[in-house]
Amino acid sequence: MASEYVDCCENPSLEKVKVFLSTDYDIVAIRRCRSCGCYWYYWMKERTFSDADTYDRSIWYVRLNPEEANVLADASAAPELSLFKDRPGLLKDSDGMNAIRGIPRFLE
Ligand SMILES: [Zn+2]
Repeated sequence: MASEYVDCCENPSLEKVKVFLSTDYDIVAIRRCRSCGCYWYYWMKERTFSDADTYDRSIWYVRLNPEEANVLADASAAPELSLFKDRPGLLKDSDGMNAIRGIPRFLE
């Protein structure tokens, strides 16, 4: 069974480093694991469906090295998505947490 959380260490616990965007539907941020220090690019998108009270939440994580995290955290704007077009990442949605590569479908 797929893990429900990021896989940087045994006991991941993510804290905010930088928030680029925060709306009712999207959060784009850099987060850091308190346990192991690993940095993660994070994009959460929620979509509500008009037919009912149903909604859908997708979260995309891309692991960042510390230099990259520092550069991105100092930038005033969110990184271009193209930066991650060939990168391995993790996608959490109604199917659980799965490894992906590149930009997840929910952002296309
Ligand atoms: Zn960790």
